[in-house]
Amino acid sequence: MSEHAETARYKRSRQRERILETLRGTKSHPTAAWVYDELKREFPGLSLGTVYRNLGILKDQGLVRILQSGSTFDRFDADTRAHYHFVCESCGRVDDVDMEVSAELEALAAARLGCSVTGHRLDFFGRCAACAAAAATATPA
Ligand SMILES: [Zn+2]
Ligand SMILES: [Zn+2]
Repeated sequence: MSEHAETARYKRSRQRERILETLRGTKSHPTAAWVYDELKREFPGLSLGTVYRNLGILKDQGLVRILQSGSTFDRFDADTRAHYHFVCESCGRVDDVDMEVSAELEALAAARLGCSVTGHRLDFFGRCAACAAAAATATPA
């Protein structure tokens, strides 16, 4: 491999590493655009398309998962363990829910279906604490 190709390859894997680190460093389940904003100064040649492509590769490698929360933009999570999410319908923020993943629910579904159930996904919806407080003060008593 030529020295140039070697350098380009190194740069690409370095970018992917930093994209993963950036995702691991936040609990906000960010969009690709957010990750791009975080890293564009560090990698002046970086494009949003590159970030998307790398997130896709990381997903295929099982290092990242994509959240389908019904919002316009895909959000990404570097925490690939089974866990639940709360989605604020007012501001769109996505939080982890600190509660045990229910094995009971899977057993129940398995019994109903007569199938082997290997996992489940669960999202809660509502208003986050900040939005609930804002709504409370906006409403005349
Ligand atoms: Zn909110
Ligand atoms: Zn999460």
